[in-house]
Amino acid sequence: MPQTVAAYAAQTATSPLAPASIDRRDPGPNDVQFEILYCGVCHSDLHTARGEWPGITFPVVPGHEIVGKVTKVGAEVKNFKPGDLAAVGCMVDSCRSCAHCKSGNEQFCTAPATFTYNSPDKHFPGKMTYGGYSKHIVVDEAFVLRVPTNLDLAGAAPLLCAGITTYSPLKHWKADEKRDGQPKKVGIVGLGGLGHMGLKFAHAFGCHTVLFTTSPGKAEDAKRLGADEVVISKNESEMARHAGSFDFILDTVAASHNLDAYTTLLRVDGTLCLLGVPENPHPSPQVFPLIFGRRSIAGSLIGGIAETQEMLDFCAKHNITSDIELIDIKDINTAYERMLKSDVKYRFVIDMATLS
Ligand code: NAP
Ligand code: ZN
Ligand code: ZN
Repeated sequence: MPQTVAAYAAQTATSPLAPASIDRRDPGPNDVQFEILYCGVCHSDLHTARGEWPGITFPVVPGHEIVGKVTKVGAEVKNFKPGDLAAVGCMVDSCRSCAHCKSGNEQFCTAPATFTYNSPDKHFPGKMTYGGYSKHIVVDEAFVLRVPTNLDLAGAAPLLCAGITTYSPLKHWKADEKRDGQPKKVGIVGLGGLGHMGLKFAHAFGCHTVLFTTSPGKAEDAKRLGADEVVISKNESEMARHAGSFDFILDTVAASHNLDAYTTLLRVDGTLCLLGVPENPHPSPQVFPLIFGRRSIAGSLIGGIAETQEMLDFCAKHNITSDIELIDIKDINTAYERMLKSDVKYRFVIDMATLS
């Protein structure tokens, strides 16, 4: 018998998030059920709840930065028991047999992967998955992460999306390796949820880290969070000083913008990696800065399950969590409005005890 669980949902693209009830399955043999204690608020939650991307089915229960305490496990579950901390990020399942699943890149599963919200739910045919703005969740053990116990739990929640989404490309493009014996020069564009985690990781990897922001008021914080330099991206002369100098730039901006401003800052063979998924496309980039310098524009999508665990363990070792503002769930719509104005320091996290 499915259980009825309290949640917050958007019923349409234009309705605010409001209390709702959803069904959760009883845990099967390989499932972990856990009470959600904290859930981070990702800009993807907003894009989805407001129908800004194609293929969204309402109602939407967002939330994919989920941490909590295990309440029940199936008979075959090996790595979790009631009382343990547990976490779930952007995926709850995948086919597990395609080449991408086998290589630890479940996010690229050809089946495709079952995302934590707004994916067809294998357990409730005809329905979509519902995310972490809810009291509890039931997920196959293979997609449940271990939260290191030395990390602040609320601050750890955003690691499940903002953390892995920035950690994975920095590792993939080898930002943590030196070039000619020197630390790589890495740019992070946008100081929001993803951006502030990208800054922390690039700093921890020993990169020379430059933060690009449209908000001059964030410059001091950026230095505290690990930036060696801060550039106000609207200031053309400040931008020009960095022309042709970056090994790698991670662009976390959630809105459409001019990419040429960043491709021209790359050195030969440098890469601009896009993480933001704006509602409207970026203006088409110029070809000249790409061919003169063999520069690349790339993209990256979250990270696989094993790499997410690696990232959490890295955070435990280096004592890295997100800088958060803890909110009551009834304030979620205000939080979305503030996120749109880039007014977040630097991730909202919902205290799920406020959902009754
Ligand atoms: P966020 O917290 O809202 O941060 C975005 C930041 O971008 C803002 O704080 C702001 O930083 C900057 N910005 C916003 N509007 C801008 C504009 N018009 N021009 C220039 N800069 C602007 O969002 P987030 O949660 O980090 O997510 C960022 C994007 O990544 C979203 O589109 C989200 O859907 C996407 N995302 C992708 C993945 C993936 O796997 N690829 C995973 C998660 C999220 P400043 O004030 O410093 O300028
Ligand atoms: Zn996210
Ligand atoms: Zn697969």
